[in-house]
Amino acid sequence: MDFLLDEEHEALRESVREFARDVVAPVIADHYEHHTFPYDVVRQMGKMGLFGLPFPEEYGGMGGDYLALCLALEELARVDSSVAVTLEAAISLGAMPIYRYGTPEQKARWLPKLVSGEALAAFGLTEPGFGSDAAGMQTRAVLDGDEWVINGSKAFITNSGTEITALINVAAVTGTTADGGKEISTIIVPSGTPGLTVHPGYSKVGWCASDTHELSFDDCRVPAENLLGERGRGLAQFLRILDEGRIAIAALAVGLAQGCVDESVRYAGQRHAFGQPIGDFQAIKFKIADMQVRAHTARLAYYDAVARLLAGREFKQAAAIAKLHASDSAMANARDATQIFGGYGFMNETPVARFYRDAKILEIGEGTSEVQRMIIARSLGL
Ligand SMILES: Cc1cc2nc3c(=O)[nH]c(=O)nc-3n(C[C@H](O)[C@H](O)[C@H](O)COP(=O)(O)OP(=O)(O)OC[C@H]3O[C@@H](n4cnc5c(N)ncnc54)[C@H](O)[C@@H]3O)c2cc1C
Repeated sequence: MDFLLDEEHEALRESVREFARDVVAPVIADHYEHHTFPYDVVRQMGKMGLFGLPFPEEYGGMGGDYLALCLALEELARVDSSVAVTLEAAISLGAMPIYRYGTPEQKARWLPKLVSGEALAAFGLTEPGFGSDAAGMQTRAVLDGDEWVINGSKAFITNSGTEITALINVAAVTGTTADGGKEISTIIVPSGTPGLTVHPGYSKVGWCASDTHELSFDDCRVPAENLLGERGRGLAQFLRILDEGRIAIAALAVGLAQGCVDESVRYAGQRHAFGQPIGDFQAIKFKIADMQVRAHTARLAYYDAVARLLAGREFKQAAAIAKLHASDSAMANARDATQIFGGYGFMNETPVARFYRDAKILEIGEGTSEVQRMIIARSLGL
C-alpha cells in the first residue's frame, strides 16, 4: 500500500500548481464576474497537454492515467473551479465516452482535436424533467433510413455552447427493450447540426466562468453511424462514465477544500484583531486544523477510489464515498474560510467568496449527495 505519489505524478502536480497560480489566478476573477469563458486559459491548458492527460499517445494524448487527471483537477480547483470543471467535463463526459465506446472512425475523427484541447465535447444526459432519475429521459431518437432523427431537450449541459464545442454525446431513447423498458443509446451530435438549438447560458450561483446551456433537438438529423457504441447500451455506458466522473469531481472538491485552507492560513497571518493576528486565536487555529483534516481525508478517499479503478477492481462504492465526503468537505471548508475572512469573505472579489459559491454544486452535479448515499447503501445490500 502506497499513498505517496511517484516522481512523474509529483512533477505533474507541481507544474499544474504553477500554471494555476501564474496563468489562472490573475485573470479568473474578471471572467467570473462577467460570466465569460476563459478561452485563452483553455488554449494554454491545451498546449500543456492537460486535455490529453489520460489518453494514449496515438491520439496525441499524454499517455497518463486517471490519477494524473485527478491531480490536475485538484490543483486547478485549488485556485478556480470553473476552469477545473471545464477540463473535467471535456475529458470525463466529452472525450472519454468516445475513447471508450467509439468506432475506429469516430476516434480518428474526434479524439485528436478533443485531446489537444482545440475542441471541447459535452455529455447530454440530464433533461429539464429528469436528473437523478436519468433513465426517465424523454428525448427520443428514431432511425429514419440512414439517419437518426432526434427530438427532445437536455438541461444544464457543461461545455455545450462554447465557440470551440465540437460535439455533444446525447443520451436518447431509441426503442423498447424485450421486457418493455426503454432502450437507451448514445448518439454523437456535432455542433451546428440543423435542429440543435443551444439556448443562452444560465445565470448561475457558481462556476460562473464555465459554459452551461439548455439544449433542444427539433427533428435534428445525424448519420446512423453517429451511434456511439452498441445500440441499447446507453444506460450502462453512462453509469460507467458517471462512476469514473465522480472520482474526478471528488478530486476537484478536494482542490477547493485545500484552496480554502491555503487562503485561510494566509489571511489568518495578516489580519489583526484585538492587537494580534487572528491566526493567534485558538478558535481560528482549530477551525483551520479541522479544514485541513477534511481536505486530507477526502484526498485519501479519492486516492483509494482511483487506485481501485487503475487496478481494475470494483470501485463504485469507493467513488461514491469519495464524491460524498469530498463535496461535504468542500462545503464545510468554504463556509469556514468565509467565516475566517469576516466581511471580506462576503465580497465577491475574494477567492473565498468564489469558493463559497462554487462549493454547493459539488453536492449536486454528477449525482447528488442523496444519490451517492443510495449507491453506498445499495452496495451494502440495503
Ligand atoms: C452547473 C451544472 C452543470 C451540469 N453539467 C451537466 C452535464 O454536463 N451533463 C449532464 O447531463 N448533466 C449536467 N448537470 C446536471 C446534474 O447532473 C443534475 O442537476 C443532477 O444530477 C441532479 O438532477 P436534478 O437537478 O434534476 O435534480 P433532481 O433529480 O430533480 O433532484 C432534486 C432533489 O431530489 C433528490 N432526490 C431525487 N431522487 C431521490 C431519491 N430517490 N431519494 C432521495 N432523494 C432524491 C435529489 O438528491 C435532489 O436533492 C449539471 C448541473 C449543473 C447545475
